[in-house]
Amino acid sequence: MRIISTGAAVRVGRLLGIPIYLHWSFLVLITGYATVSGLRGGVLDAALTLVGSTALFGSVLLHELGHAMAARFYGIRTAHISLYPFGGVAAMEGMPGEPRHEMVVALAGPAVNFGLAVLFGAGFVLTSAMPWAWMALLNVMMGLFNLIPAFPMDGGRVLRALLSWKWGFVQGSQVAIAIGRGFAVLFVAGGLAFGAWNVVLVGGFLWFAVHIERRRLDQMVARERAWIASLNRRFNPVYVVNTQKCRDFSER
Ligand SMILES: [Zn+2]
Repeated sequence: MRIISTGAAVRVGRLLGIPIYLHWSFLVLITGYATVSGLRGGVLDAALTLVGSTALFGSVLLHELGHAMAARFYGIRTAHISLYPFGGVAAMEGMPGEPRHEMVVALAGPAVNFGLAVLFGAGFVLTSAMPWAWMALLNVMMGLFNLIPAFPMDGGRVLRALLSWKWGFVQGSQVAIAIGRGFAVLFVAGGLAFGAWNVVLVGGFLWFAVHIERRRLDQMVARERAWIASLNRRFNPVYVVNTQKCRDFSER
C-alpha cells in the first residue's frame, strides 16, 4: 500500500486499474472511533471497530466499483474512486450516452450491495455470528438508501434516465434536478424537526451535489448552443430548428 497525499484525500492503492482515495476526515473518524472503543472496552473492542469500519467502507468501495465496472462496459473510464465519511464517489470521465446506459450504471452500485447482503446473509446462516447479520442489514440499507430518487443519488439518476427517455436529456435533467432539490430541503427540514443531525448533513450534501449538477447541465447547454450556432453560421437552415429547441430547453 503506497500512500500519496493529494491535498484533502490520500491515495491508498489501485483496484481494477482505478486509483482509490480516502478523504482525511474518513481516516480521522475511523481512528477516533477505534480509540474511543479501545478506551472503553479494550484492545478487542478497538480491533472489532476497525474490522467493522473496514467491512462497512469495503462495501461502499465495492458499490462504487460496481458503478465503475458498468461504466467501463460502456467505454467510460473512471479517473478515481474517493471514499468520504458519507459515502463514495466514482469520478467518471464521461456520461453514459443513452438513458438505458445511465440506468444500468446507476443500478450497478445498489446491485452490488444487494449481492453482498446475500453473501453476508449466507455467512450468518452458516456461522450464526451476529456481525454477518449486521453487515447484511447494512448492505440492504445502503442499497435502498441509494435508490431514493433524489438526483444525483443513484435512484435520482435512474429517474433522470426515465425522464430523459420521455422528454429528452435537458428537460429530463431539469425535472430530476428540481426533485433532487426538493429531497434536499425535505432532508434538512425533516432532520431539523426530529433532531437527526446526520440527516441534516445528508440534505446539505445533497443540496451541494444538486447545485454542481445544475451548473454542469448549464455549461453543457451553453456549449451545445455555441456549437449549433457555429454550425448555423456555416451551413444554415438545417440546424435552425435545433437552435430553437435548445434555447427553449435552457430557458425553462
Ligand atoms: Zn452509487
